[in-house]
Amino acid sequence: MDRSLPSRWFMRPLLAGLATLVLLLMAGAAPAWAEFSLPPLPYAAEALEPAIDATTMTIHHDRHHAAYVANLNAQIAADPRLAELSLEALQGQIGDFPAAVRNNGGGHWNHSQFWMVMAPVGQGGEPSPQLLQAINASFGSLESLKSQFDRAAAGRFGSGWAWLIRRSDGSLAITSTANQDNPLMNLSGIERGTPLLGLDVWEHAYYLKYRNRRPDYIAAWWDLVNWNEVNRRFAAA
Ligand code: MN
Repeated sequence: MDRSLPSRWFMRPLLAGLATLVLLLMAGAAPAWAEFSLPPLPYAAEALEPAIDATTMTIHHDRHHAAYVANLNAQIAADPRLAELSLEALQGQIGDFPAAVRNNGGGHWNHSQFWMVMAPVGQGGEPSPQLLQAINASFGSLESLKSQFDRAAAGRFGSGWAWLIRRSDGSLAITSTANQDNPLMNLSGIERGTPLLGLDVWEHAYYLKYRNRRPDYIAAWWDLVNWNEVNRRFAAA
């Protein structure tokens, strides 16, 4: 008989229960922060074709976004404060950290929202009546919002993002940020608000397919907007 394993009838369930308890305690004691992690794409890499091709999606997510996450995690050793912040909370304090945290922490948050606010053509739904009401109040119409957004996205010099945000007074606005900054960041020169929809206009987001034709990328991207997610963000703001 194998003496290393308890054979009495009551021992196995008892040990299994103990093991479960230990695992639960360990999970509870584990730091809530751990490391930042790369979220998987919420759809297949080719799901957004033809507006965004699978190769661009794969490189963008698996290389660029992954690098922001890895580089952000590399900063944890240098500054333990990072380990205690959620990714979202970090954005509001990012001005207190060095540029590497700003760039990579911003890159991680921005791309995490970017994948979520897109959906395969026909699956993104429509603006909710509540959101549409706010859009009409702030822009006059959805078309007007889009043309203002297009101008911000096309007009962003160099790399950056265009945003639809909800201001603290409840109004909506179109903004643009450079590099990997975003409207949650406590930085001067940034119009702060709750991002509802953010578009990546870095060349890595479109250059393989669109070359230098950023406006064509922006125009095609509207077909991918996941209004269901924008509605959710608006309702939660
Ligand atoms: Mn990007």
